[in-house]
Amino acid sequence: MVDVHCHLTAREFEGRLDFLIEESVKSGVEVIITSGLGYEDSLKALKISDHKVVYPSIGVAPYDTAGYEKVLQLIEKERSRLIGIGEVGLDYWKGERMKRSFQQKVFEEFIDLARSLDLPLIVHSRSAGKYALEILFRKKAERVIMHAFDGRPSYAVEAAKRGYMFSIPPSIARSIQKQRLVKKLPLDSLLLESDAPVLAPYRNQVNHPKNVKVSAEWISRIKGIPFHEVVSRTTSNALELFGLKV
Ligand SMILES: [Zn+2]
Repeated sequence: MVDVHCHLTAREFEGRLDFLIEESVKSGVEVIITSGLGYEDSLKALKISDHKVVYPSIGVAPYDTAGYEKVLQLIEKERSRLIGIGEVGLDYWKGERMKRSFQQKVFEEFIDLARSLDLPLIVHSRSAGKYALEILFRKKAERVIMHAFDGRPSYAVEAAKRGYMFSIPPSIARSIQKQRLVKKLPLDSLLLESDAPVLAPYRNQVNHPKNVKVSAEWISRIKGIPFHEVVSRTTSNALELFGLKV
């Protein structure tokens, strides 16, 4: 399995990262993509990616864009080590209303950079699914992953027709919206993510990359497709999108 999005730099994992990665590999996770949020965290994400199965993607939290120019520069500098840009995007839940236009401006800069460097974009769009997709469509963005998408399934279906991918977190176990999303989208548009340490199957639990298995189990159940097939298809979807060979 491929965990296309998590935060191994999180405080919750400090001091037990080797163990965590080992446990993930034992559970069948062959690739873990860790996403940096902001400059300092992105430097940490690059460092952690010395681990064989860990690959870095770097970006900024839409609700905390301070110093984002440094992140843009870091992406250009580290292009050869990066597997993607993100997470970046919009957050209309945490982000202050007055700052929405600034969030959009920052998001657009990252979309432009992703295109010029030909890197996939991992997009955060909390309470802003429709707005994030509008910007991506207008800018004709390609190689897009909408992570933990909380918008309407009908918007997702429209995006999937354009080749956008949707990564499903283990919180699908407690989210009717995610279950509906999976029902509506074809397996070819789905990926697995943990978003560890958040979005665990149970509320208030610290999430773990190995829980992508929970996402796969739910996809299997909802779509009536054998678990092993969900694993192999979501894995090949991810490897193809990121241009990885394992
Ligand atoms: Zn995240």
